Amino acid sequence: MRYAVLSDIHSNLVALEAVLGDLADAGVDRYVCLGDIVGYGARPNQCCDMIRDLDAISIRGNHDEAATDTTKAEWFTAPARACILWTAERLRDDNLEYLRSLPPQRIVADAITICHGSIPDPDHYTVTPLDALLSLNAMTTSIAFFGHTHYSEWFISADQGKLPAEYPIPAGGTLRIDNDHLYLVNPGAVGQPRDGNEMASYAIYDDERGEVTIHRVAYDIAIAAQQMKDAGLPEAMYARLWLGV
Ligand code: ZN
Repeated sequence: MRYAVLSDIHSNLVALEAVLGDLADAGVDRYVCLGDIVGYGARPNQCCDMIRDLDAISIRGNHDEAATDTTKAEWFTAPARACILWTAERLRDDNLEYLRSLPPQRIVADAITICHGSIPDPDHYTVTPLDALLSLNAMTTSIAFFGHTHYSEWFISADQGKLPAEYPIPAGGTLRIDNDHLYLVNPGAVGQPRDGNEMASYAIYDDERGEVTIHRVAYDIAIAAQQMKDAGLPEAMYARLWLGV
């Protein structure tokens, strides 16, 4: 099977369309989504519709959860909360119902764990090798995918008592899987990359070849930003798109 793994779309329809265009000839069998379909961007319904049309195996992110229960946005920064309140008012009932139905984590094909922030805690940011160790220790599969930080990278387990190795992959790259390690992979963000590369990010996992490839795709940031500006969303949230931060 070839899986396309998407995370942190954040209502950025322009970026999502660019990624799906890039995937058109990739021979993908299933789409997987690691959450945060909505929040920040100006096209929440269209992004939900696309993920639903793809029949993606999906989980919820903290923004998806906050869009369906705005009390959960109390911990957000003021601009992020403003985006969630705007999103919650505009999401159609069927999309709210869809987001509400998503589990916080799941195991795909008995072999791939998908979570939003980390395996023990969906809201935890996996940033350092020590963070990664918490998920690696909790994994029941040999590969897991996570998002939430919006960095393209992977962690590979090390010998007992040692911290996992961290490999930031902001320009994209290929990971070859062996049977001796555990792998924790972040495909990066489709809709709001924060690893210094402003291009949309996603991964393809080919379980027969034992290979994960992270791809970066240019998209028209000016259009995505203009949509947010026209919607009255906070400038801080679209100014950062050009910087990839
Ligand atoms: Zn996110």
